[in-house]
Amino acid sequence: MKPSDIFKCEKCGDCCKGYGGTFVTEKDIKAIAGYLKTDHKSFIKDYCYMSGSRPVLAQQKNGYCIFWDKICTIHPVKPKMCKQWPFIKSVLIDVNNWQIMASVCPGIRIDMPDDIIGECVRKELSKNQ
Ligand code: SF4
Ligand code: SF4
Repeated sequence: MKPSDIFKCEKCGDCCKGYGGTFVTEKDIKAIAGYLKTDHKSFIKDYCYMSGSRPVLAQQKNGYCIFWDKICTIHPVKPKMCKQWPFIKSVLIDVNNWQIMASVCPGIRIDMPDDIIGECVRKELSKNQ
């Protein structure tokens, strides 16, 4: 079984709306700020809000990520969190998170045994370290 057997993005954009906020790492900030031709400080001020001590991408009034406009407008440099979705660590901690995520993501297949889901998530995470 390959990761693409259990998830295929349908490009609906639902994961770019609401759903707990998108954290950006220092590496993400550097890449996105460079792509937007701005600097670190201005990027945080113009495109993020702080969640505790961590910057999170701001949202538009309609609830979508500030970079969503029918497509992801920063696709080549989108944050690690977006690149990894839905193959994220929290699924390895509790496989039920896969089913919970499926309720907001139509691309996720839920008719798969837990061991296959775990195997695919581990495979994808090892590629994206
Ligand atoms: S919610 Fe799922 S299917 Fe829709 S765009 Fe996001 S990853 Fe793709
Ligand atoms: S950065 Fe792109 S992929 Fe990530 S939440 Fe925003 S619009 Fe969606």
